[in-house]
Amino acid sequence: MTRETIFPHRHLLGIQGLAPTEISALLDLSDDYVDKNRSADRKMTTLRGKTVINLFFENSTRTRTSFELAGKRLGADVINMQVSASSVAKGETLIDTAMTLNAMHVDVLVVRHPDSGAVKLLSDKVNCAVINGGDGSHEHPTQALLDALTIRRRKGHLDGLTVAICGDVLHSRVARSNIHLLNTMGAQVRVVAPRTLLPSQAERLGVEVFHDMRRGLADVDIVMMLRVQHERMLGSFIPSIREYFHFFGLDYEKLAAAKPDALIMHPGPMNRGVEIDSDLADDVERSVIREQVEMGVAVRMACLEVLTANLQKDFR
Ligand code: ASP
Repeated sequence: MTRETIFPHRHLLGIQGLAPTEISALLDLSDDYVDKNRSADRKMTTLRGKTVINLFFENSTRTRTSFELAGKRLGADVINMQVSASSVAKGETLIDTAMTLNAMHVDVLVVRHPDSGAVKLLSDKVNCAVINGGDGSHEHPTQALLDALTIRRRKGHLDGLTVAICGDVLHSRVARSNIHLLNTMGAQVRVVAPRTLLPSQAERLGVEVFHDMRRGLADVDIVMMLRVQHERMLGSFIPSIREYFHFFGLDYEKLAAAKPDALIMHPGPMNRGVEIDSDLADDVERSVIREQVEMGVAVRMACLEVLTANLQKDFR
């Protein structure tokens, strides 16, 4: 298969709806980029002459930097635009932005927005390829891809693994994208969370639901912790940080329920001492959190490559 056809889409807006072969192809290409990124000569020309804009309506350090590095390593011109999302007239702002960007002949737009669905809305108005860098609590596809790459490189496969996604599932786009990806690739997914931090009818996402960490972590291969997203909480979702850590924070004692070689993951940024014990987060024997960051650059290079290769095609 040529690289233009491994991912027959104009945009990457989410994981939901992608075929297993498309996900595997992106991961295979990402694997090549991990090797290239570890070599001395990391500067490539694949995207020479192309323009990538990081359009972020919400704060981000790691995702934005990761996309910036990915674009620059491939030889693209990368521009960062940090925009504050006004509370009113968001639709209008987005469409204005789209018209401006169309006039500038941008090739790829990486968009992060606090509202679910906003990135799709923008993608309908622009002439370039769009990558969703996280929209509200909806999807964060490159995070799920980098998580899958981390797992696949460590465990050799995704199918048949049991993965526990723990914590603030309600507000997490990372959880949603991971649930779609892991289900598509044949893994078993559990969510472990207090009732207040779960979407209603969470089972409909194709997961097994637990409210107790020790039960939820029993014999799992992967423990994926989520950040408690205080900024998306309008009311009180957890009684206190101390109590949350006591029941749902990952520590060595709760981890003992998982398989002895279970990997610990976290998308970052971490609230140390809230959802994860600080020493455990840094324990290189168990935690692959830093590796996730490394995989992120490779995955984003793969996504930029396939989408720019598709630009002349008539994909929707
Ligand atoms: N960085 C991830 C995101 O943007 C996870 C988080 O913020 O908790 O969704």
